[in-house]
Amino acid sequence: MNTQNKIAALNEVLNYAKTSPFYSTRIQNLPLHSLEDIKNIPFTTKSDLREQSPFGLLPASSSSLSQYHESSGTTGTPVSVWYNEKDLDEITSGIATCGASFNESDIVLIRFPYALSTISHFVHRAVQRQGGCVVPADSRTTITPMSKVIDLVKRLNVTVLACISLQAIMLAEVAEMLGLNPKKDFPSLRAICTAGEPLTPFRRKLIEEIWGVPVFDNYGMTEVGTTMVDCSSQQLHVFEDYFHVEVLADDFKTDVKDGEIGNLVLTTLRKRATPMIRYVTGDLVQVVEHPCSCGRNRSFVIRGRKENLITIDRKSFDMHELEKMITILPARRFWSAGKINSHLYIFIEKESKDDWISSGYTDQLKEKYGVAISIILLDKGTLYDRSDDLSFGMKAKPHYFLTTQETENLLKMSRSEGAN
Ligand SMILES: [Zn+2]
Repeated sequence: MNTQNKIAALNEVLNYAKTSPFYSTRIQNLPLHSLEDIKNIPFTTKSDLREQSPFGLLPASSSSLSQYHESSGTTGTPVSVWYNEKDLDEITSGIATCGASFNESDIVLIRFPYALSTISHFVHRAVQRQGGCVVPADSRTTITPMSKVIDLVKRLNVTVLACISLQAIMLAEVAEMLGLNPKKDFPSLRAICTAGEPLTPFRRKLIEEIWGVPVFDNYGMTEVGTTMVDCSSQQLHVFEDYFHVEVLADDFKTDVKDGEIGNLVLTTLRKRATPMIRYVTGDLVQVVEHPCSCGRNRSFVIRGRKENLITIDRKSFDMHELEKMITILPARRFWSAGKINSHLYIFIEKESKDDWISSGYTDQLKEKYGVAISIILLDKGTLYDRSDDLSFGMKAKPHYFLTTQETENLLKMSRSEGAN
């Protein structure tokens, strides 16, 4: 979309959003004359959404509602988001551009949560719209424990597995526990589609090595729906016609330069049931301006939640940086990290009992980052309990970033493991 069309689309959506109780007083001085003018409109934050839920963001002229979703987050107070039929169609069209190219021969097993969450429903609809068949294997139910999912993937000749990236690793481990080889024993599987947490290039490589199929990522959130998908070259591109994207420095005023990491702020460009104007996503992203083989010139790297950054002596460690350190190690499937004072601790579950890490490697890291770093190998099952595959799959939510107390507890546990 060129700049003039973008400004026109923004003016239209701002006039429309203004008819909702929440935006009625916040949006002023229309029309915008340049893209810079949008910076005069206040941000929408998650706490605004909590206060306005469930109905405060609905514009007066919103067409009839089709679907309700909410996210609770850490506070427990829900954020309400509504979608109408057109919204769902547009999001589905966006997902249809994913490099996994769902088609009529596909059987896609969806292993995202279904209750109140968006992603499972969006992918479900996108697959069916492209003629594929869906196996709805919810990740938050006792009906489909991990072993049942493996059974379904094998018995139904599933072609695409859709789940969060950690779940793809957990499922591989359950397959191995059942005596199967993820790479050889699922010949129909052709792709894995991930969403719900940042997919670093290191984790993508890990999953591709384990399963032997390409991984395509999908980025979005309950509040605005799917926003970006990987193209066939595995680069994340935003749905340019549906979103205006700002990537702002920590002052939340200036745009970051190409290649720098900044705060992602999104504005929906269409007349949605719940339009979002300058929504502060809380995610850090990197914009890459470079021609992609799919024909687009701008892609995004999702670096992770800002609240999860581990900062030591002005050095910040996000998921990307941590997995970069882990990627060359013999054990790299399950990890957590935390700090005590100025010391970074990375805990990784052993994949075989002989796994070890040379002290030379941690010395290299200390020199590179100028921070005290310890990498500690733990027995399998310490970070994610495998005592039964139901709890492994259902309760084991990703937990990569530890509080100081959790870091101290793991450190104590690792010392007693070492003593045995
Ligand atoms: Zn591309």
